[in-house]
Amino acid sequence: METKPDIKSLTRDELAARFAELGQPAYRVDQLLDWLYVQRATSWDAMTNLPKSLREILRQHFTLQTLELIRKQGARDTTQKFLWRLHDHSLIESVLIPANPSLYGEASDRHTLCVSTQVGCAYGCKFCASGLDGWKRNLQPNEIVEQVQAVERWGAEQSRAESRESSAPLTRPADTLSPSDGERDGVRGARPSTLDPRLVDNLVIMGMGEPLANYDNLLKALRILNAPWGGGIGARKITISTSGLAPQIRKLADEPEQFRLAISLHGATDEVRAKIMPVNRKFPLKELTAALDYYQSNKARMLTFEYILIAGVNDSLEQTKPLAALAKRLHAKVNLIPYNTVEGLSWSRPDEETCENFLAALEKQKVIATLRREKGHDIDAACGQLRLRTEKELAHR
Ligand code: SAH
Ligand code: SF4
Repeated sequence: METKPDIKSLTRDELAARFAELGQPAYRVDQLLDWLYVQRATSWDAMTNLPKSLREILRQHFTLQTLELIRKQGARDTTQKFLWRLHDHSLIESVLIPANPSLYGEASDRHTLCVSTQVGCAYGCKFCASGLDGWKRNLQPNEIVEQVQAVERWGAEQSRAESRESSAPLTRPADTLSPSDGERDGVRGARPSTLDPRLVDNLVIMGMGEPLANYDNLLKALRILNAPWGGGIGARKITISTSGLAPQIRKLADEPEQFRLAISLHGATDEVRAKIMPVNRKFPLKELTAALDYYQSNKARMLTFEYILIAGVNDSLEQTKPLAALAKRLHAKVNLIPYNTVEGLSWSRPDEETCENFLAALEKQKVIATLRREKGHDIDAACGQLRLRTEKELAHR
């Protein structure tokens, strides 16, 4: 069993402390960070402006794990799913979504990446593929950070392939930069022009797993992804989605960062919500909304309520009244999502008219709401399904 920490699980301060212990000069930390988060190097040997002896020391003390892409679904410029294999052969998913300004946060012409935080999920919501096989383990901070890095590397590789096809001048892969390039770019400054611009500018923590049940690793990863020396993604462009763990919501409210929060609500009364989400028994709406009041009073950020419309379960117009009341009280906007059928689960999505009527009823009550209308929901389906299918296929081989 590997016990060394991974290099991408450490913050700049932690690295600085380790480098001091190892007798290394402080400027080497910035050179290393440049290799990790600007060049996105995948091996120690690529870090050519670090002395060989230092690379050896790093190899002895840290791992440098990368995610292995084993399956990808979806065409370029549409929603794309990535299935990754971790070092222990567990499978996780990330989903890259072309920007949809109305969904999370400000307008953007770029991409949103949805990342996973656990292998499986212990919360067992009745609509969700992620929890079907239960919970396996928490992701380490580096495994959360690496989902962004790996997608960025994939995007850069795609752009290179495209420019090769159109026989435009070549951009070189980061790992083959010459030592002199490394020296020039080693001290962090502007992004080197040989690298492609970042693909991911919004992050939603809405993939497999309950992020707030992996609180410490999540916060560490988000701090690395948010830092100017790391991922450089603004806190306001990071949305954490939770099934409603009230104590952790309060804890998050006390953190200095301005992360956005989305609540998987799916029911606006305890009776309806408990049918869909077992977690509602532990943290009923009264407790959840009290925690959200606290979050709002500390952060004054717009909350989002995720509300999957499931035929005959939570789609009656009756539900719009308590839903509108909650949304108005908490200054939340409502994101309606027609249910995606999950293999092995019996529920189905309501017809289009029911969804449109539900939206109209909310709007009439002066709630800011959106309804996801994209077609081809096979691929738009939430995280967990590609993994489940692949696990089944592997088991039947
Ligand atoms: N555990 C966290 C984050 C992951 S699940 C949470 O519960 O918030 C996040 C979201 O995935 C759900 O709220 C829902 O919006 C979406 N989702 C999951 N299964 C879905 C399905 N079958 N159809 C549509 N959306 C789904
Ligand atoms: Fe877990 Fe979220 Fe799926 Fe519920 S909706 S089972 S909390 S991943």
